[in-house]
Amino acid sequence: MKIEKNTAVTLRYTISDKQGKILEQSDEPMAYLHGGYGNTFAKIEEALDGQEAGYRVTLELQPQDAYGLRDESLVQTIPKTQFPPGVKVGGQLRGQGEDGQSHVFTVLKVKGDKVILDGNHPFAGKALRFNVSVTEVRPATEEEVTHGHVHGAHGHHH
Ligand code: ZN
Repeated sequence: MKIEKNTAVTLRYTISDKQGKILEQSDEPMAYLHGGYGNTFAKIEEALDGQEAGYRVTLELQPQDAYGLRDESLVQTIPKTQFPPGVKVGGQLRGQGEDGQSHVFTVLKVKGDKVILDGNHPFAGKALRFNVSVTEVRPATEEEVTHGHVHGAHGHHH
């Protein structure tokens, strides 16, 4: 069956940078609800629309079409004393940005008694290459359409 609005699409993907270095690879297939539900990037949906299981495509996405541009206001320096012990560079924690929104912060640097955090997605500001291969297409259930996401093995659990 063809990928169209309200189909559940299962795929495997690899994300690499412009130089071809692999940044992320799906160990498990991932499933999303097709049709503008915001489950995946619009450009990916666009490329897959009307295709079937077995389809493979390589897409180059600009930062604004993927994880967005970097927001330097999300880079924060805070005293180490505000931190749980054992803070390490590369570690992640959830906190509030200056915009009042919840962000996942990555520890960039520990400098003396200060910790530098970055609330940007690690792929923000990067042009990315997505290798996508569609493994399964099925009609979504009514419940999935109501929820706006896919259930089951590779979908949303709740
Ligand atoms: Zn649900």
